[in-house]
Amino acid sequence: MMRRFAVCLLLCFLVYTNAVDAEISSVEAPVKNIIIMIGDGMGFQHVASARLGAKQPLVMDTALVKGSLATHTIDGCVTDSGAGGTALAAGFKTAHYHIGVDPDGNNLYLISEAARDVGKAVGIVTNARLTDATPAAFSAHVPHRDLEDQIAVAQMRSGFDLFLGGGAEQYYSHCESLGLRPIDVAVENGFQIAADKMELDKADRLPLLGLFARKDMTAERYRRLLTKEPSLAQMTEKALELLSQREAGFFLMVEGALIDKRSHINERSSIPLEVAAFDNAVAVCVDFAEKHPGTLVIVTADHETGGLTILDDGQIRFTSIGHTNAQVPLFVFGDGADAFADASDNTDVVRAAFQLGRMVFPDQPSASSF
Ligand SMILES: [Zn+2]
Repeated sequence: MMRRFAVCLLLCFLVYTNAVDAEISSVEAPVKNIIIMIGDGMGFQHVASARLGAKQPLVMDTALVKGSLATHTIDGCVTDSGAGGTALAAGFKTAHYHIGVDPDGNNLYLISEAARDVGKAVGIVTNARLTDATPAAFSAHVPHRDLEDQIAVAQMRSGFDLFLGGGAEQYYSHCESLGLRPIDVAVENGFQIAADKMELDKADRLPLLGLFARKDMTAERYRRLLTKEPSLAQMTEKALELLSQREAGFFLMVEGALIDKRSHINERSSIPLEVAAFDNAVAVCVDFAEKHPGTLVIVTADHETGGLTILDDGQIRFTSIGHTNAQVPLFVFGDGADAFADASDNTDVVRAAFQLGRMVFPDQPSASSF
């Protein structure tokens, strides 16, 4: 009797462990490289305007999994980039203007920090100021997005490996509350510094700080004629070249920020150009993912800006100079993309990415090292 019980117990154990194994193997190997790309303010109609402009499908259109996300905050139906970026970085909704913290100011654990904590390289790329709300939400914890001097210092103390974007003025100014200049913290921490496209091309090691404009980088319609700034795609390419040398893999956030900024001023002609520039950066990442198995590429937005519609004359019309509650698109490429088939809220995205990368997602907002 005892013996039959023991055999039964053993069988149960074997069946149980097999089931667990099956569950893990159905998820396959952990995703090694995670890329989140955010078209700031990019709604479905923004994407459509670029598609119409190009008269052909975009790279975004070739995603394995497509969906749409709700972007409301914890206490309002329309978000800003602070709360929207925090939801995409931490998987928790928060209040307006909050950066990497919950509504009470407690630090949230960001996917970029989780990646750093398991030994991955971490990079942040934007064509806005590096201290603007979206890059800040992936690299700092402050109660208000306007605390850009503190954001710059936090970025240089984050232990992350690469920051490329605008915002040189902030980095070279004194942070009054901390009594130091972010650029000095960068030098202390061994950052190589690049100031234009030529210096970016030459950069060959991490950590790397690229500051290519005093404030936000130049809109696409002027960039090629008037500046020595790299494009979003060129910054993305350099980020992948350097980050991918880390054996444990990497996390990279890329923001196409000027989609939002040109929508705020209702500049119709810029919208297809800015979305196309963002799509070029998507192409760089999708190409990388095809050549490097174990790479996940998530493309989405933090909110829609401008209430943009396209009328039957093909013209773009804006209905607002602010953000709206419109759903935003989700495009996912590479290994693990299937896990996003049911995503419907901006907090779903990073929760799935944590799981695919086998990084521990916290139950509660938790303290962080910044
Ligand atoms: Zn905005």
